Amino acid sequence: MSDYDVDLFVIGAGSGGVRAARMAAQYGAKVAIAEESRYGGTCVIRGCVPKKLMVYASSFAEHFEDARGFGWDVGEPTFDWGKLKANRDAEIDRLEGIYRNLLNNSGVTMHDQRATVMDAHTVALADGTKITAKYTLIATGGRPNVLPFEGAEHVIVSDDIFLTEKQPERVVIVGGGYIALEFACIYNGLGTDVTVVNRSPTVLREFDGDVQRHLIEEMEKKGIKLHLGATPVSVADKGGTKTLTLSDGIAFEAETIFVATGRKPNIDGLGLENLGMKLTGKGAIAVDGYSQTSVPSIYAVGDVTDRAALTPVAIREGAAFVETVFNNNPMSADHDLIPTAIFTQPEIGTAGMGEEEAREKHEIDVYRASFRPMLHTLSGRDEKMLMKLIVDKASDKVIGVHIIGHGSGEMIQCLGIALKMGATKADFDRTMAVHPTAAEELVTMKTPV
Ligand code: NDP
Repeated sequence: MSDYDVDLFVIGAGSGGVRAARMAAQYGAKVAIAEESRYGGTCVIRGCVPKKLMVYASSFAEHFEDARGFGWDVGEPTFDWGKLKANRDAEIDRLEGIYRNLLNNSGVTMHDQRATVMDAHTVALADGTKITAKYTLIATGGRPNVLPFEGAEHVIVSDDIFLTEKQPERVVIVGGGYIALEFACIYNGLGTDVTVVNRSPTVLREFDGDVQRHLIEEMEKKGIKLHLGATPVSVADKGGTKTLTLSDGIAFEAETIFVATGRKPNIDGLGLENLGMKLTGKGAIAVDGYSQTSVPSIYAVGDVTDRAALTPVAIREGAAFVETVFNNNPMSADHDLIPTAIFTQPEIGTAGMGEEEAREKHEIDVYRASFRPMLHTLSGRDEKMLMKLIVDKASDKVIGVHIIGHGSGEMIQCLGIALKMGATKADFDRTMAVHPTAAEELVTMKTPV
């Protein structure tokens, strides 16, 4: 009989926490989990899933327009924000139910309340219960980081979008990362007037330069306004109309000011300071390759560790933790060459190094194609697709792939496998093209630029 109430106590029922709890229980461990909000975490409740449903919703606007070139008359389409919200909320409720059932069916004890860490082997629940655990896993995720400018209480963050009952007529979005740009395209597709403000003279600053330029061009063609090189100074609210004043003296008015300037690890009040737990320079929980913190009985996975703030990464980290601790099979999640999609419109798929980073580290050849996809020959839409391969000259290995256009997210998942396997440009060249697709361009680029 164990000296502890449970073998594993998981704090946070998001992607990483749920995966770890279920797997550990399946290996025979006695597991409890605590969640103060809703099961499923950021991804399911207020992130990837409801966001992607909104991406689908917003992309219909262009489908209706494009259909005309193919002979369809679809009349004047109308959009109902309330109906989308109700249907989306019902789907999220369904998914949360599935998460709960999965935990329940695995024999995990669920505590629907906040939990904090008291010492290396004790967790305290909000209702005062204390539970001792051989191991604790912190999987509390992250939350939006709102800059401390004057009037910041008048802005909304990504969590709030899914609660909004009414579609704004105008929105100003602060930030030029994943969240700001995905929502700029969502709002624009649904008919809201959108302005994006970012502190850098570009967006997606850490991505390939051609990707940045191509996206800016395509977003502007769709009517999204970008105001770059300025930061927020203040927001004032007059009867519901907000005025955002920027560092360059320019001001924008809108009903909604939406700030997406990064996320921070969710550790406030968790009790980590009592344990002297080591944090990274960015305030995330510092862990080793096996997700072990500086307190040996406590592990941490997912966004709270700020390794790569992506759902599949948290899931892999959670699984590797369980293999290591509960299956005597030491395993670390592989963070190298993570493929990722940004669900802007057009969509981006990217894996490996951008051209600028690759040039600093390697002698490279760059293959680039920019073309009008077949869909837009008849639709008449002025939208181009971009594909780019970065090849290390010495080894011929493809060390970066960057795509913008319809289906990029789906393509990059498969290309990620090729890159992980160490595919060379010669491997791409000897792969037969699939015709007629846009992706065939990836295996037919012959001459470096
Ligand atoms: P990002 O890190 O992607 O972007 C943050 C943006 O905010 C950048 O444009 C940055 O400017 C700007 N910014 C940061 N600090 C300041 C500051 N002090 N003043 C002014 N501007 C600032 O963060 P997000 O919030 O968009 O997303 C968080 C993370 O969530 C992502 O990194 C990603 O890992 C994950 N995510 C993934 C998605 C996906 O897989 N599709 C979707 C959504 C989120 P600058 O350009 O100068 O750096």
